[in-house]
Amino acid sequence: MTKKDRYKHFVEYFSKHKPDAVTELHYSNPYELLVAVILSAQCTDKRINQVTPALFERFPTPGALAASTPEEVFNYIRSVSYPNNKAKHLVGMAKMLVELFNGEVPSGLEYLQKLPGVGRKTANVIASVVFDEQAIAVDTHVFRVANRIGLTTSARTPLAVEKQLMKNLPKDVPGIAHHWLILHGRYICVARNPKCEICPISWFCKYYEQSQTESALKKAEALKVKKVKEQKKKNALNKISRELKKRSVDEG
Ligand code: SF4
Repeated sequence: MTKKDRYKHFVEYFSKHKPDAVTELHYSNPYELLVAVILSAQCTDKRINQVTPALFERFPTPGALAASTPEEVFNYIRSVSYPNNKAKHLVGMAKMLVELFNGEVPSGLEYLQKLPGVGRKTANVIASVVFDEQAIAVDTHVFRVANRIGLTTSARTPLAVEKQLMKNLPKDVPGIAHHWLILHGRYICVARNPKCEICPISWFCKYYEQSQTESALKKAEALKVKKVKEQKKKNALNKISRELKKRSVDEG
């Protein structure tokens, strides 16, 4: 199957079965989404959704967050990964929103990436979810699943994956494809032991195709070894039988 075919099947399958895929982070405005995405780096959405209600209640606007301190914010996010750094980033990000962007989340990767705690991945999420731009954020799930399915080839960095996906996906798809890949990676194509046996897209997955070929080769090799062993055993038995016959003739 060609890469072009895999893209075609990928888009067709998920357009049909997950036409409304969205982020699992809870938020009600661009500011809250930005906070949630910054917090979600190397942490689960489930965990982030547990801490954000109290955080958003205490800091409902960028202004409220900007007026706080990392020490205070830390108390609200202590259960997420890297709480010290994230608390500093959140306060720094809020201050910049207030000082440079009138308290609004700016559009455009260039501006978004100036905010503390916002890298290319977070900026792409905001660009696609908030501003409806066709961008694809590459996190660990997107990176792994795109590679396994065979949508990317020899892409060693998130940026390389992003470029290949942007080049090959239809123009109106990257925004939602990000959610397709994340959700598939979170629930089926998990990092260790992907659930290929129940995966509905195994029929066009490159990893699955290769693993099936490898397993067929291994089976053929095991069969060959078994046959050789059986033949050796047979030869040995024939030899013993011939020797016994010869001995009985000599004795007779
Ligand atoms: S077949 Fe396996 S490796 Fe391929 S997408 Fe499905 S779970 Fe992932």
